[in-house]
Amino acid sequence: METKKLICINCPLGCSLEVSINKESGEYNVTGNTCKRGESYAIGELTNPTRIVTTSLFVQNGKQKMVSAKTSTEIPKNLIMPSMIYLANIKVNAPIKTGDVLVENILGTGANIVATRTVDKR
Ligand code: SF4
Repeated sequence: METKKLICINCPLGCSLEVSINKESGEYNVTGNTCKRGESYAIGELTNPTRIVTTSLFVQNGKQKMVSAKTSTEIPKNLIMPSMIYLANIKVNAPIKTGDVLVENILGTGANIVATRTVDKR
């Protein structure tokens, strides 16, 4: 039996979680969570960790040179750095409105890159 300790990041309460992993049966037992989301978070974190990613993209013909953006859903942690490298090498065209999809299905994750601010045309 292996044990891991985590802090749940789903709400400001920040519950201290302890996960017991039964390697033979593959079962996870989570304690310390105040609600079900803590259990889902702990198991997900140990089996397939994912994150929302926030970043900035270069803009062509805009009043600002950069536009802030984020993923529409969480993506696997191991695809965060490849996504950042991909996004650092592209430019998006102004005008851009908050909520515009700048990149669809980044690296096949199913997540879109969505603008979080407006950039007017120069
Ligand atoms: S387990 Fe529930 S109450 Fe505790 S931090 Fe996570 S989401 Fe919040």
